[in-house]
Amino acid sequence: TPGIRPLVAGNWKMNGDRDSLREIAAIAGGIDTALSEKIDALICPPSTLVYLAAAAVQDTGLSIGGQDCHWAASGAHTGDISASMLADANATHIIVGHSERRTDHGESSAIVRKKAEAVHAEGLIAIVCIGETKGERDAGETLDVLKKQLDASVPDASSAQNTVIAYEPVWAIGTGVTPTAQDVEDAHAFMRRELEDRFGSDGAGMRLLYGGSVKPANAGELMSVNNVDGALVGGASLKADDFLAICEAY
Ligand code: PEP
Repeated sequence: TPGIRPLVAGNWKMNGDRDSLREIAAIAGGIDTALSEKIDALICPPSTLVYLAAAAVQDTGLSIGGQDCHWAASGAHTGDISASMLADANATHIIVGHSERRTDHGESSAIVRKKAEAVHAEGLIAIVCIGETKGERDAGETLDVLKKQLDASVPDASSAQNTVIAYEPVWAIGTGVTPTAQDVEDAHAFMRRELEDRFGSDGAGMRLLYGGSVKPANAGELMSVNNVDGALVGGASLKADDFLAICEAY
């Protein structure tokens, strides 16, 4: 979208150990001046690596984020990690509402909204994920689902600065199957209208990422679709060559 700086974000999911910091350093090394003039680049490793990864990419064009957080800042929530902890570990962004969290952990949009509010309270950028399942798409419910998830998952205090929306059709994640460019364009145009209605110029300026089986081979086509302001990349973000090739699609 004219005037919007694209974001290419990598979600490492439950992959990576300290050896993988070399891959992160390789990605950071590949974000040269020409690329960082065009795009923001982000890798979200597992939380065990956030602090180390952030230290490894200091003063480069690569930022480090978290994959999820609790909605509370601290307290009796065994096994959870807060936005404030991720901020303390030098994360700049946190993904919330990924479909794997919604499915594996039963996260509702109401919970996702509270998490995004916690991200905002720490001054970090929330990447709010939404997307329809195969069943919902086949039933013709895609735009209804997107509207419901946007309305319920995105906090009222969201701005173009503190919020990124990632459209990730659940059936496209990790499957190698992607929607057509036309389907992506329709979904993103719909999201843009909804966000403009609710947030005005902030909605017009919010970054809308596409996610779901983005690879070097299809990034050029997907990233050139109207209202696609970057990508959320799973599998292909694990290898520096692939991730950098996707960044180069801009
Ligand atoms: C994701 O997990 O956000 C994702 C898009 O995964 P993949 O690129 O592997 O489909």
